[in-house]
Amino acid sequence: MTLAYVLMYHRVCERTEDTACWFARGTAVTPEHFATQIGWLRSRVRFVPLDAAVEGVLSGGGSDQRPLCAVTFDDGYRDAQVAVDQGVPATVFAVAAHTGDARDALWFDRYYDILHSARRRASVQGALLELPADAVVPAIDDDLCWWVRGPVKEALQAMEPTARDERLRQISEVLDASSRTLPRDLYFSRDELGALMRSGHAVGGHGASHSRLTSLDDATLAAELAASRALVDGLGDQPARLFCYPDGAWDGRVQAAVRTAGFPIACAVTEGVVSVESPRLALPRILMRDVLPGERGWPAALEAP
Ligand SMILES: [Zn+2]
Repeated sequence: MTLAYVLMYHRVCERTEDTACWFARGTAVTPEHFATQIGWLRSRVRFVPLDAAVEGVLSGGGSDQRPLCAVTFDDGYRDAQVAVDQGVPATVFAVAAHTGDARDALWFDRYYDILHSARRRASVQGALLELPADAVVPAIDDDLCWWVRGPVKEALQAMEPTARDERLRQISEVLDASSRTLPRDLYFSRDELGALMRSGHAVGGHGASHSRLTSLDDATLAAELAASRALVDGLGDQPARLFCYPDGAWDGRVQAAVRTAGFPIACAVTEGVVSVESPRLALPRILMRDVLPGERGWPAALEAP
């Protein structure tokens, strides 16, 4: 039985003060570690585009029994260029309203920017962040993980876009943040995504606003998926096929809507290896952390023979 690894990356960037939030969140890998990870995998797997990995698993994959491996990058960061540069087929899941040409940062990137530029870095009262009054709020520099993974981030994640923008404005005020301009080249532009596609890489949908699809009403859900489809269909002559659930949030209703919107393959964030039994609309993936092969945090699934 042929298996496939679908690796999940977000950012690939140097570890600096500017990128600390992504590393604390666990969504960044340094270019050096990325190169070592890919190098380690090269002799063990067959790198293929994502849809070829799915087809290969279903068809049995031929005589070469090494696992197939597809490399995916969520959120449309230009960092995925590192895979292209190393000759590895990449799948970029871009967010329709936040491609580079839109010059409008994703909500969590704006939140990270608030944390980075905050002048009030000591603890604040929980109530100011809409948390219980007795909630213990650590200073930003003492526990950045709390800020990027804890209750404030979780509350933002569950909100719909308008309420979330308002909450971000409040947090920015409470933390006395100065709004910086995020780097212009953080995300691929539509032109760059089109060029990627023409050179054999894949682009998939990842919503329009990166909202949790399970928390949206039917009409908003349909609009998010239609925008995703329009983005990918507009890039070249290959119709959209691949989707990735923002925050990995899906249920039966969302899955049906994704199918109706014309995506036959969708990635979840459930940890696992793709086998012939894996549902095509909820493919498991392997979260790649900023660690080297064999270190703590290196995915056990990749060590299997
Ligand atoms: Zn995402």
